[in-house]
Amino acid sequence: MAGFQIQPPSWGEPITVENGRLVIPDKPIILYIEGDGIGPEVVTSMRRVLDAAVAKAYGGRRKIAWTEVLAGERAGEVYGKVLPEETLDAIRQYYIGIKGPLTTPVGGGYRSLNVAIRKALDLYANVRPSRYFTGVPSPIKHPERVNMVVFRENTEDVYAGIEWPYNSPEADKIRAFLKQEFGIQLREDAGIGLKPISEFGTKRLVRKAIRYAIERKRPSVTLVHKGNIMKYTEGAFRDWGYEVAREEFGEYTITEQELWEKYNGQVPEGKVVIKDRIADNMLQQILTRTAEYSVLATPNLNGDYISDAISGLVGGLGLAPGGNIGDVHAVFEPVHGTAPKYAGKNVINPTAEILSGALMLEHMGWFEAADLIYQAVEKTISAKQVTQDLARHMEGVKPLSTTEYTDALIANL
Ligand code: NAP
Repeated sequence: MAGFQIQPPSWGEPITVENGRLVIPDKPIILYIEGDGIGPEVVTSMRRVLDAAVAKAYGGRRKIAWTEVLAGERAGEVYGKVLPEETLDAIRQYYIGIKGPLTTPVGGGYRSLNVAIRKALDLYANVRPSRYFTGVPSPIKHPERVNMVVFRENTEDVYAGIEWPYNSPEADKIRAFLKQEFGIQLREDAGIGLKPISEFGTKRLVRKAIRYAIERKRPSVTLVHKGNIMKYTEGAFRDWGYEVAREEFGEYTITEQELWEKYNGQVPEGKVVIKDRIADNMLQQILTRTAEYSVLATPNLNGDYISDAISGLVGGLGLAPGGNIGDVHAVFEPVHGTAPKYAGKNVINPTAEILSGALMLEHMGWFEAADLIYQAVEKTISAKQVTQDLARHMEGVKPLSTTEYTDALIANL
């Protein structure tokens, strides 16, 4: 392609897969997409911090072979296409990527590129950790109790996007079908959407959440659903979730009911407690019983609401990382968008992108480097070295630019 080539450094080694598990070499090829708006600034900052953390943790033994691929506006200029097949193929081939935000035009233009990437690669788990860093302004009294990871299903539920306008021929047909076959009378002016939740989709998501909890020694996994009202979608999500815990992880898990009936409320050593909560109550519980929740597994829409609510407790968008993870492929990205009004101004907070990078390092098993990053973020923010989004909520604090903040983080590694 004229003007751009996907070119891993000659010393880079491809990640491979053996028996369904990633094998990470010491010099892995990792793809990155700079993205639009503030994307290039946060991605540059993230790469600098990850390189420094990896060098510090492993000396010269390990190093990331960064390899750029394009999506978004730059891809449009180079390829004439905002999501080139070559980019998707590269992710298929190299397994792991990290991206900056991409523009989604409102009301027209193309559909969300983020959604397209998740769909094309079947990245079915949207993973969103939220934790507190000392000094971050928070609306609650005990933000230090927040340490939760949401596993949100990424392919079903309302995200499947199956819906029709009220006045479409499809909606007419469905109304007629429902009336004739089931005697269900819908209003003539009702738009219609479908909410599919399958056993397959639920189990692979919950399996990932439970495996994560076991491997990271997390105390519990909570299934969040609205099964009291939607019994065969949300309720089934809960039932299939318990089933997967019992049938595949019986040795490592107990239910909350067993905890009280058999163990008098004392969690036996090494067991993960599986519990469930109705979604509306869950939104209250994260405020009133914050410390009791660790890993949450949710259908798509509940996860959307709950993960934003949790991240709002500990610093909001500038600090909220994420990852979209499939069986072997994964693309990490911050929750925030392209914040176009700040693009090129060197003022935005790159922490969400950096923490997405740390999440990626954990996914690769490079925990030492990830921990260095968490410690550096803690040290930097608690010393009131912050960008304007946080400084404006802190008294008498002069904001750092994006590059000054990145320098401070690296110095604190
Ligand atoms: P946004 O880009 O996330 O920005 C909304 C506001 O959040 C900003 O104006 C700013 O608040 C704050 N903010 C976001 N990121 C920040 C950061 N790193 N540091 C400091 N403050 C930050 O949301 P949007 O304006 O709704 O969306 C803009 C574009 O991004 C749209 O095209 C949208 O589709 C796209 N988008 C992409 C992704 C993705 O690629 N995953 C996700 C969401 C949205 P203040 O104005 O209060 O300073």
